[in-house]
Amino acid sequence: MILTSMSTVGITALVPPELIFACGHMPLDVNNHVPSSAEHPVSKLCAWTATWREMLLQKRLQVDSLVVVAGGDCHNALADGQRVALGGIPAHFFFYPFDGDTDYMEAQMQRLVLHLGGEVDKAKFREVGLAKELGMRLEQMRIEGRISGADAFRILISFSDLCGDIPAFMEQLVPEKRHEEAKFRVGLIGVPPIYKDFHEVAESFGMHIAYDELPYEFLRLGGNSMAELAKSYAGYTFARSLGYRLDFLERELARRRVDGVIHYTQFACHHLLEDDVLRRRLDYPVLTVQGDMPGSTPEQVKLRLEAFSEMLGRAP
Ligand code: SF4
Repeated sequence: MILTSMSTVGITALVPPELIFACGHMPLDVNNHVPSSAEHPVSKLCAWTATWREMLLQKRLQVDSLVVVAGGDCHNALADGQRVALGGIPAHFFFYPFDGDTDYMEAQMQRLVLHLGGEVDKAKFREVGLAKELGMRLEQMRIEGRISGADAFRILISFSDLCGDIPAFMEQLVPEKRHEEAKFRVGLIGVPPIYKDFHEVAESFGMHIAYDELPYEFLRLGGNSMAELAKSYAGYTFARSLGYRLDFLERELARRRVDGVIHYTQFACHHLLEDDVLRRRLDYPVLTVQGDMPGSTPEQVKLRLEAFSEMLGRAP
């Protein structure tokens, strides 16, 4: 199916928003509606994909088309994306190159452009690029501890779709809260927590989240031409080998001078299998947390965060 008029294009993971805007449509990251959802899917593995699947099928989330990231970072999305397609919502399947091949990436982007109508307004690349430059300034403020991790996360996570409206989104790129002095700096790696208040809870125990692994990918990738975009997005760490991702992670954690690492994992997510490898390779105290259903951070997770903060206080 080819989209002909302005449409809302759902995305199930990172899909270059530059392309969707440039083809005259509005991206909508379906994941951003999961943490506050009251949905209770009956058939589920990962609650992220099962929740957006049900929201789409029950029309509680409206899209004209769904771009499913089928090759790259999530196999559950591939299965649930097909269920959405069978339910009558047009779907396009988008693949990242595991080996970082930029020609493959560009070919995938060209296929996506065809699905999106085929006309590309390259001025939109620059518009998204300007928003990302602003976002990078805020990210630097977070690294320097001048804005809270919760504030930075709220902004970064929306760079996947820029809330479907670039000018309105840019007006929001002003942090509201001043950061209170935290005792420890931590990096949050893995998929984003499904709990809507996770960052605030970590901060309440004296931990400044100085790095959000996946949302930072939304911000740092981009470009002003198809070739630049292909080169940049071919380096999307979650779609590459674990070794590639670990090299990148080590550099970012060192640059942000973290005292410890929280590895968030999701029930029934294959990334959980990476936990041992990450723990062995990263030279930091690591807390592994596993979540399941969306909502507020459960009490047992709060207790573990509190204990981790106390442990960081005892570390030499
Ligand atoms: S948590 Fe894992 S299984 Fe769930 S959507 Fe993310 S990558 Fe896919």
